[in-house]
Amino acid sequence: MTKQHPAGDAAAIPFDPGPRASIAVAGTAQRFPVRRIYCVGQNYRSHALEMGANPDREPPFFFMKPSDAVRDDGAIIAYPPATRDLHHEVELIVAIGRAGAGIAAGTALKHVFGYAVGLDLTRRDLQAAARRIGRPWETSKAFDGSAPVGALLPAIGSALPEQSAIRMRVQGEVRQEATLAQLIWPVPEILAQLSTLFELMPGDLVFTGTPAGVGPLAVGDLVEAHIDGLPELSIRIGPPATGTAAA
Ligand code: MN
Repeated sequence: MTKQHPAGDAAAIPFDPGPRASIAVAGTAQRFPVRRIYCVGQNYRSHALEMGANPDREPPFFFMKPSDAVRDDGAIIAYPPATRDLHHEVELIVAIGRAGAGIAAGTALKHVFGYAVGLDLTRRDLQAAARRIGRPWETSKAFDGSAPVGALLPAIGSALPEQSAIRMRVQGEVRQEATLAQLIWPVPEILAQLSTLFELMPGDLVFTGTPAGVGPLAVGDLVEAHIDGLPELSIRIGPPATGTAAA
């Protein structure tokens, strides 16, 4: 005999769902709600080579971060647990404003809402271990605070100039510097490829890959990310969180 749950006996869900993850929009108090975060692996020749990969003729590959990994400009991001090799990767972020699947590269920019500069923070030691044994990348890429993003510049349907510089500094010293012309797969091609795998929806962010010069971050570091024409992003690496004690 099946035991029935008497009506009215359900326990209340014991937490508040909280706000949807979002990022700032330049020049307005409105925020852009984040649905999914897609990331492209190895999309600059120089970085593919430094990671020991062959940058030629390989289609782009993708991984994801959770939407609540985003952090704003000015954030202090605790040095994450379970790593001794937290790395910076400066990237151009594309925000999607219009849904689409099977998008043609020639019309892909119509799906763009705007652009931002961001950091794909990475536990490089965990990533190296996952690559070695063919395991998933989530623990290396999808941790809390792993996706700081500067304010989004609305640029509906348009591209950024190819010669735009992308650059990042740690404690004032330039660590990564390139131009968007060095992307192996430019934004329209990335959106075309990604939309063969997933239907892109408003609120999606796409991290488009990092140039050479990735390297370690330490507690106390000021990290400044720049792309010509976009609002700046600066974050600081804070001490490791001490953990949340059980009540
Ligand atoms: Mn990356």
